[in-house]
Amino acid sequence: MSSTSKRSDLLFPLSGNRRLAEYIRSGGDGQAVVLCGPAGSGRHTAAWNLAAAAVCAGAVRPCGQCPACRKVRVGEHQDVQLVSVPEDKSAIPVERIREIRGEAYIRPGEAENKVYIIESAETLQVHAQNALLKVLEEPPAHARFILITGQESALLPTVLSRCRIFRMEPLSPAEGEALLGRLHPASDPEARAIALAAAEGYVGPALARLTDDRRKEHAIALDLVRGMLRHSEREMLAALTLPEKTQRDRYAAMLDCLTELLAAALERKYGRETPGIAEESRQMAAEWSIALLLRLRDIVEAARDRAKFNIQPLTAALALCAELAGALSL
Ligand SMILES: [Zn+2]
Repeated sequence: MSSTSKRSDLLFPLSGNRRLAEYIRSGGDGQAVVLCGPAGSGRHTAAWNLAAAAVCAGAVRPCGQCPACRKVRVGEHQDVQLVSVPEDKSAIPVERIREIRGEAYIRPGEAENKVYIIESAETLQVHAQNALLKVLEEPPAHARFILITGQESALLPTVLSRCRIFRMEPLSPAEGEALLGRLHPASDPEARAIALAAAEGYVGPALARLTDDRRKEHAIALDLVRGMLRHSEREMLAALTLPEKTQRDRYAAMLDCLTELLAAALERKYGRETPGIAEESRQMAAEWSIALLLRLRDIVEAARDRAKFNIQPLTAALALCAELAGALSL
């Protein structure tokens, strides 16, 4: 980076991990990077920032302002590809890696570089890793590979030797509290501190512990979302309106869980990872537009406000179902 005093703010806020943040801000020019750490340690956030830096057209990258940065923000940049384990498979198939190897040599469509973010890289079998190695050994100048893994030892030494390796760092109590407070505002600070300490400073596992405290409410919210995804108002009503599900406290906590599921779907729409994201949130992000998700979030927000007043939870639940169904055009 030039000696300009203007520093880049990362496109997606990355907590802690100063060395990695500096690397991204300095352009992150390595052609192959491994981001290693548990789920919810910031690996995807770092990867998307690196991708933005690679395609950004600004002077200080990632600038966050240029068309390329804006496209990365909504996950729509044609030169940035997220490579995931297919729904019906347990690993990224070798065929997919061979495809990438072929595509990587084709010039980028609009940016200076093209980026492949390969998640769950530990699932790559030896032959897939060897296929990847061929392009890592002699990568075209415009290609960038970012491997995300929870298990560094699953990658071949030959692959690792071609990559710059970053191990995600645990967060300090203050950094962890700031992030957990945003992701799980319904919990109290003491519970967050205990969960963070028990999770050794990693936010993903800490969040899972906090969510575990409200397992039943979370399950109800998931049932409701599944009904929504299947376009079944009947299932939505079944999820919400059994008497034991509409006790006042439980109903309010369920709405909190629902808000979190929608927030996670929206984060994913924006290309950010929420630690421990539910499959249902992934599905909402895959099937629904940002506009619809925002509309649903507003409906749930309004329902949360109403739940503070002395309204019969059953009546409130019926009204919520009707509004959600309306937004989904059921
Ligand atoms: Zn930019």
